Amino acid sequence: SGSRIPYRRVLLKISGESFCREHESGISMQELSSIASQIRDVVQVGVQLAIVCGGGNILRGRQFAEVSSTIVPSTAHYMGMLATVINGLALQDALESAGVQTRLQSAIRMEGVAEPFIRRRCLRHLEKGRVVILAAGTGSPFVTTDTAAALRARELDAEVVLKGTKVDGVYSADPLKNPHAVRYTEISFRDVLNQNLQVMDAQAMHHCMEHNIDIIVFDYKRVGNIARAIAGERIGTRVSA
Ligand code: UDP
Repeated sequence: SGSRIPYRRVLLKISGESFCREHESGISMQELSSIASQIRDVVQVGVQLAIVCGGGNILRGRQFAEVSSTIVPSTAHYMGMLATVINGLALQDALESAGVQTRLQSAIRMEGVAEPFIRRRCLRHLEKGRVVILAAGTGSPFVTTDTAAALRARELDAEVVLKGTKVDGVYSADPLKNPHAVRYTEISFRDVLNQNLQVMDAQAMHHCMEHNIDIIVFDYKRVGNIARAIAGERIGTRVSA
Protein backbone atom coordinates (compact mmCIF):
# COMPACT_ATOMS: atom_id res chain seq x y z
CA SER A 1 0.00 0.00 0.00
CA GLY A 2 0.92 3.67 -0.19
CA SER A 3 2.87 5.94 2.11
CA ARG A 4 2.56 5.62 5.81
CA ILE A 5 1.86 8.22 8.42
CA PRO A 6 4.08 8.02 11.48
CA TYR A 7 2.19 6.80 14.49
CA ARG A 8 1.13 9.14 17.27
CA ARG A 9 0.29 6.75 20.10
CA VAL A 10 2.00 3.41 20.18
CA LEU A 11 1.75 0.31 22.28
CA LEU A 12 5.04 -1.53 22.49
CA LYS A 13 4.96 -5.12 23.65
CA ILE A 14 8.28 -6.36 24.94
CA SER A 15 8.50 -10.00 25.80
CA GLY A 16 10.23 -11.30 28.88
CA GLU A 17 13.02 -12.71 26.80
CA SER A 18 14.04 -9.17 25.82
CA PHE A 19 15.25 -8.79 29.38
CA CYS A 20 17.71 -11.66 29.29
CA ARG A 21 20.43 -13.04 27.05
CA GLU A 22 19.60 -15.79 24.63
CA HIS A 23 19.13 -19.19 26.31
CA GLU A 24 19.28 -17.55 29.72
CA SER A 25 16.67 -16.33 32.15
CA GLY A 26 16.36 -13.47 34.63
CA ILE A 27 17.43 -9.93 33.87
CA SER A 28 20.61 -8.91 32.06
CA MET A 29 21.80 -5.37 32.72
CA GLN A 30 23.20 -5.20 29.22
CA GLU A 31 19.93 -6.13 27.52
CA LEU A 32 18.04 -3.82 29.83
CA SER A 33 20.15 -0.77 29.08
CA SER A 34 20.15 -1.45 25.35
CA ILE A 35 16.33 -1.49 25.30
CA ALA A 36 16.19 1.59 27.50
CA SER A 37 18.41 3.59 25.18
CA GLN A 38 16.34 2.61 22.14
CA ILE A 39 13.21 3.71 23.94
CA ARG A 40 14.80 7.01 24.97
CA ASP A 41 15.53 7.79 21.31
CA VAL A 42 11.93 7.04 20.39
CA VAL A 43 10.41 9.21 23.07
CA GLN A 44 12.58 12.14 22.04
CA VAL A 45 10.71 12.39 18.73
CA GLY A 46 7.49 13.02 20.63
CA VAL A 47 5.52 9.81 20.24
CA GLN A 48 3.24 8.70 23.06
CA LEU A 49 4.42 5.34 24.27
CA ALA A 50 2.85 2.71 26.49
CA ILE A 51 4.78 -0.49 27.08
CA VAL A 52 3.36 -3.85 28.08
CA CYS A 53 6.07 -6.10 29.40
CA GLY A 54 6.06 -9.86 29.43
CA GLY A 55 7.41 -12.15 32.10
CA GLY A 56 8.60 -15.25 30.30
CA ASN A 57 12.21 -14.68 31.34
CA ILE A 58 11.10 -15.42 34.89
CA LEU A 59 7.97 -17.56 34.73
CA ARG A 60 5.26 -18.58 32.30
CA GLY A 61 2.06 -19.68 33.97
CA ARG A 62 1.14 -22.53 31.68
CA GLN A 63 4.58 -24.12 31.63
CA PHE A 64 4.99 -23.69 35.36
CA ALA A 65 1.63 -25.30 36.13
CA GLU A 66 2.55 -28.30 33.98
CA VAL A 67 5.70 -29.09 35.92
CA SER A 68 4.47 -28.34 39.42
CA SER A 69 2.24 -30.82 41.19
CA THR A 70 0.92 -28.61 43.97
CA ILE A 71 0.57 -25.22 42.35
CA VAL A 72 -2.76 -24.88 40.61
CA PRO A 73 -2.89 -23.24 37.16
CA SER A 74 -4.49 -19.98 38.29
CA THR A 75 -1.81 -19.47 40.93
CA ALA A 76 0.88 -20.16 38.35
CA HIS A 77 -0.63 -17.50 36.10
CA TYR A 78 -0.73 -14.98 38.94
CA MET A 79 2.93 -15.77 39.53
CA GLY A 80 3.56 -15.03 35.86
CA MET A 81 1.80 -11.69 36.19
CA LEU A 82 3.99 -10.83 39.16
CA ALA A 83 7.02 -11.68 37.02
CA THR A 84 5.96 -8.92 34.64
CA VAL A 85 5.96 -6.49 37.57
CA ILE A 86 9.56 -7.44 38.35
CA ASN A 87 10.49 -6.69 34.73
CA GLY A 88 8.47 -3.48 34.83
CA LEU A 89 10.35 -2.23 37.86
CA ALA A 90 13.68 -2.99 36.20
CA LEU A 91 12.63 -1.26 32.99
CA GLN A 92 11.42 1.76 34.92
CA ASP A 93 14.76 2.33 36.59
CA ALA A 94 16.66 1.69 33.37
CA LEU A 95 14.51 4.26 31.55
CA GLU A 96 14.73 6.83 34.31
CA SER A 97 18.50 6.52 34.37
CA ALA A 98 18.46 7.09 30.60
CA GLY A 99 16.59 10.33 31.29
CA VAL A 100 13.08 9.17 30.38
CA GLN A 101 10.14 10.07 32.60
CA THR A 102 8.07 7.02 33.40
CA ARG A 103 5.15 5.71 35.38
CA LEU A 104 4.59 2.09 36.26
CA GLN A 105 0.96 0.96 36.37
CA SER A 106 -0.07 -2.48 37.50
CA ALA A 107 -3.25 -4.38 36.69
CA ILE A 108 -2.95 -6.02 40.11
CA ARG A 109 -3.01 -3.52 42.96
CA MET A 110 0.38 -3.12 44.53
CA GLU A 111 0.45 0.33 46.12
CA GLY A 112 4.02 0.13 47.37
CA VAL A 113 5.59 -0.31 43.95
CA ALA A 114 3.21 0.81 41.22
CA GLU A 115 0.18 2.94 40.49
CA PRO A 116 -2.97 0.98 39.77
CA PHE A 117 -3.85 0.87 36.09
CA ILE A 118 -6.46 3.58 35.58
CA ARG A 119 -7.23 4.32 31.96
CA ARG A 120 -7.77 8.07 32.24
CA ARG A 121 -4.72 8.51 34.42
CA CYS A 122 -2.66 6.50 31.99
CA LEU A 123 -3.83 8.70 29.10
CA ARG A 124 -2.90 11.82 31.06
CA HIS A 125 0.63 10.51 31.61
CA LEU A 126 0.94 9.74 27.91
CA GLU A 127 -0.25 13.22 26.97
CA LYS A 128 2.41 14.66 29.24
CA GLY A 129 5.07 12.67 27.44
CA ARG A 130 5.68 10.09 30.13
CA VAL A 131 6.31 6.51 29.13
CA VAL A 132 3.78 4.32 30.89
CA ILE A 133 4.91 0.80 31.68
CA LEU A 134 1.94 -1.52 32.05
CA ALA A 135 2.60 -4.50 34.29
CA ALA A 136 0.64 -7.53 35.51
CA GLY A 137 -0.93 -8.08 32.09
CA THR A 138 -4.70 -7.97 32.22
CA GLY A 139 -4.82 -8.88 35.91
CA SER A 140 -6.61 -12.11 35.04
CA PRO A 141 -5.13 -15.58 34.65
CA PHE A 142 -5.11 -17.81 31.54
CA VAL A 143 -4.16 -15.18 29.01
CA THR A 144 -0.80 -13.80 27.88
CA THR A 145 0.73 -10.38 27.78
CA ASP A 146 0.12 -10.38 24.01
CA THR A 147 -3.58 -10.26 24.78
CA ALA A 148 -2.96 -7.62 27.42
CA ALA A 149 -1.11 -5.56 24.80
CA ALA A 150 -3.97 -5.79 22.31
CA LEU A 151 -6.58 -4.91 24.95
CA ARG A 152 -4.60 -1.96 26.27
CA ALA A 153 -3.96 -0.73 22.75
CA ARG A 154 -7.68 -0.67 22.22
CA GLU A 155 -8.44 0.95 25.54
CA LEU A 156 -5.79 3.63 25.08
CA ASP A 157 -6.62 4.25 21.41
CA ALA A 158 -3.18 3.28 20.20
CA GLU A 159 -2.90 3.00 16.44
CA VAL A 160 -0.42 0.18 16.43
CA VAL A 161 0.97 -2.66 18.50
CA LEU A 162 4.69 -3.04 18.03
CA LYS A 163 5.67 -6.59 18.73
CA GLY A 164 9.40 -6.90 19.16
CA THR A 165 10.68 -10.43 18.61
CA LYS A 166 13.89 -12.25 17.78
CA VAL A 167 12.91 -12.73 14.14
CA ASP A 168 12.59 -9.86 11.72
CA GLY A 169 8.97 -10.40 10.81
CA VAL A 170 6.32 -12.90 9.78
CA TYR A 171 7.40 -15.69 7.43
CA SER A 172 5.41 -18.03 5.20
CA ALA A 173 6.98 -20.93 7.13
CA ASP A 174 9.53 -21.39 9.89
CA PRO A 175 12.72 -19.96 8.32
CA LEU A 176 14.85 -22.23 10.49
CA LYS A 177 13.17 -25.34 9.09
CA ASN A 178 12.21 -24.32 5.58
CA PRO A 179 14.83 -22.65 3.34
CA HIS A 180 12.08 -21.48 0.97
CA ALA A 181 10.29 -19.47 3.65
CA VAL A 182 9.71 -15.86 2.60
CA ARG A 183 9.19 -12.86 4.82
CA TYR A 184 6.13 -10.69 4.27
CA THR A 185 6.56 -6.94 4.50
CA GLU A 186 2.80 -6.41 4.53
CA ILE A 187 0.08 -8.93 5.18
CA SER A 188 -3.63 -8.73 5.98
CA PHE A 189 -5.22 -10.11 9.13
CA ARG A 190 -7.26 -12.44 6.95
CA ASP A 191 -4.20 -13.94 5.29
CA VAL A 192 -2.54 -14.43 8.66
CA LEU A 193 -5.56 -16.43 9.80
CA ASN A 194 -6.04 -18.31 6.53
CA GLN A 195 -2.41 -19.36 6.41
CA ASN A 196 -2.31 -20.04 10.14
CA LEU A 197 0.76 -17.82 10.61
CA GLN A 198 2.18 -17.02 14.02
CA VAL A 199 2.01 -13.28 14.80
CA MET A 200 0.68 -12.88 18.31
CA ASP A 201 -1.50 -15.26 20.24
CA ALA A 202 -4.88 -15.86 18.62
CA GLN A 203 -6.89 -13.76 21.08
CA ALA A 204 -4.56 -10.80 20.65
CA MET A 205 -4.77 -11.11 16.87
CA HIS A 206 -8.54 -11.09 16.99
CA HIS A 207 -8.69 -7.95 19.10
CA CYS A 208 -6.39 -6.10 16.73
CA MET A 209 -8.27 -7.33 13.68
CA GLU A 210 -11.69 -6.43 15.04
CA HIS A 211 -10.63 -2.96 16.04
CA ASN A 212 -8.33 -2.19 13.16
CA ILE A 213 -5.14 -1.82 15.15
CA ASP A 214 -2.02 -2.48 13.06
CA ILE A 215 0.55 -4.95 14.33
CA ILE A 216 4.20 -4.61 13.38
CA VAL A 217 6.37 -7.64 14.06
CA PHE A 218 10.05 -6.75 13.98
CA ASP A 219 13.48 -7.55 15.35
CA TYR A 220 13.86 -5.20 18.30
CA LYS A 221 17.50 -6.15 18.85
CA ARG A 222 18.63 -4.20 15.81
CA VAL A 223 19.38 -0.82 17.30
CA GLY A 224 17.04 1.87 16.00
CA ASN A 225 14.34 -0.53 14.87
CA ILE A 226 11.73 0.65 17.39
CA ALA A 227 12.16 4.20 16.06
CA ARG A 228 12.02 2.96 12.46
CA ALA A 229 8.80 1.09 13.11
CA ILE A 230 7.20 4.16 14.68
CA ALA A 231 8.35 6.42 11.87
CA GLY A 232 6.51 4.17 9.43
CA GLU A 233 9.60 2.72 7.75
CA ARG A 234 9.24 -0.67 6.18
CA ILE A 235 10.84 -2.93 8.69
CA GLY A 236 9.67 -6.37 9.73
CA THR A 237 6.08 -7.21 8.80
CA ARG A 238 3.07 -4.96 9.07
CA VAL A 239 -0.22 -6.73 9.65
CA SER A 240 -3.24 -4.59 8.87
CA ALA A 241 -6.76 -4.71 7.48
N1 UDP B 1 -0.30 -13.70 32.53
C1 UDP B 1 -1.61 -13.82 32.93
N2 UDP B 1 -2.51 -12.85 32.56
C2 UDP B 1 -2.18 -11.80 31.78
C3 UDP B 1 -0.83 -11.70 31.32
C4 UDP B 1 0.07 -12.66 31.72
O1 UDP B 1 -1.97 -14.76 33.62
O2 UDP B 1 -3.03 -10.97 31.48
C5 UDP B 1 0.71 -14.67 33.00
C6 UDP B 1 0.78 -15.91 32.12
O3 UDP B 1 0.93 -17.02 32.95
C7 UDP B 1 2.06 -15.67 31.33
C8 UDP B 1 2.92 -14.92 32.31
O4 UDP B 1 1.99 -14.10 33.01
O5 UDP B 1 2.67 -16.88 30.93
C9 UDP B 1 4.01 -14.10 31.68
O6 UDP B 1 3.54 -13.42 30.56
P1 UDP B 1 3.89 -13.88 29.04
O7 UDP B 1 4.07 -15.35 28.98
O8 UDP B 1 2.89 -13.28 28.14
O9 UDP B 1 5.29 -13.19 28.83
P2 UDP B 1 6.22 -13.16 27.52
O10 UDP B 1 5.97 -14.40 26.72
O11 UDP B 1 5.85 -11.94 26.77
O12 UDP B 1 7.59 -13.06 28.06
